[in-house]
Amino acid sequence: MEIVELAGLVTGRLGDARRRVEAVRITDGRIEAFEARGGADVVLQARGAVAIPGLIDSHAHVVFGDWTPRQNALGWIESSMHGGVTMMMSASEVHLPGRPRDRDGVKALAVTAQRAFAAFRPGGVKVLGGSVILEPSLTPDDFPGLAAMGVGLAKVGFGDFERQADAAPLVRAAQRAGIIVMNHTGGASLPDSSPVTIDDVLALGCDIIGHANGGTTALPDGDLPRLFEAPGAIQLVQAGNLRSSLKILELAKAGDALHRIVLATDTPTGTGVMPLGMIKTICELSSLGSVPATDAIALASGNNGRVLRRDEGILDVGRPGDIVLCFAPLGSAHADPLAAIEHGDIPGIAAVVIDGRLRALRSRNTPAPGGECSVIHRNENGGG
Ligand SMILES: [Zn+2]
Repeated sequence: MEIVELAGLVTGRLGDARRRVEAVRITDGRIEAFEARGGADVVLQARGAVAIPGLIDSHAHVVFGDWTPRQNALGWIESSMHGGVTMMMSASEVHLPGRPRDRDGVKALAVTAQRAFAAFRPGGVKVLGGSVILEPSLTPDDFPGLAAMGVGLAKVGFGDFERQADAAPLVRAAQRAGIIVMNHTGGASLPDSSPVTIDDVLALGCDIIGHANGGTTALPDGDLPRLFEAPGAIQLVQAGNLRSSLKILELAKAGDALHRIVLATDTPTGTGVMPLGMIKTICELSSLGSVPATDAIALASGNNGRVLRRDEGILDVGRPGDIVLCFAPLGSAHADPLAAIEHGDIPGIAAVVIDGRLRALRSRNTPAPGGECSVIHRNENGGG
């Protein structure tokens, strides 16, 4: 595939300005060059759209298939793809009705979800499923085996622990096995879970401090600076407390720690199914938190990719061809999509490409883009 007639490209790397890229050539799912070389089987004419990396939601409540029991909705993952999301990380399949809590059941659920999402990509979205829920029934010896079976994620904060900090030995064992662990932060989100305080967060030492701005109930303001004493990435979510999110963002800017901030939706939850949750968070933090659009996008792409140890999230030669084409929305005060984001307007998504394959032409969920892309399919045996 070749994408031509671009009005620039956002790399997804924090600190990078918009690049003057006009074309991207993608071969075998990866970016081969920032130029057109001709002969591609599919040519996507961007007609002045700006390319940004596919967004990575590092806190998605996937369960099985493209279904969420929380809001009893179908097709929500594909719908998120129409909001620019090309990869999702499971926040554990905790919403599964009747989810098991015994040792065998907890492990089997993680393995099954990992397998199921490795083989099924709704709307082409890469779902990193199978996040093992840390329960007191597990032992440190369980993690090497889980990792060997392909389970790469774990979540702490829902288990039946007296204090969530009691899970710390299991977190450490999971990390030693190479598993990325995320914790729940703040007030209890489920009737049978307990709050996670800043002391719990520090004791747990997870790779990702899940919804540091609350999911949905935030930590007290006085505790927020202490988030930066923990080692992990600090996650800000759409379904959390926006005021708390902006305060954490201020602290990150002041402490030169924007590289530690990762964005996510923490949906579907009681807050709802939010197909535009990622792009909306980018717009809110950019416009209200005075972060350049290129950096706000990086928090949702490159930063998440790095924490998840993936090469998605950055647009560069050799990286996956996960690309979203944006225009300013029709009627916006700004003609440029990045200026629109800094103004707080959700851009119009005109195309979504995953692994070099066109998945959506004109989003069905964003506002109407101020321009339109078109596609030319060449002869199947035309190469490229
Ligand atoms: Zn959550």
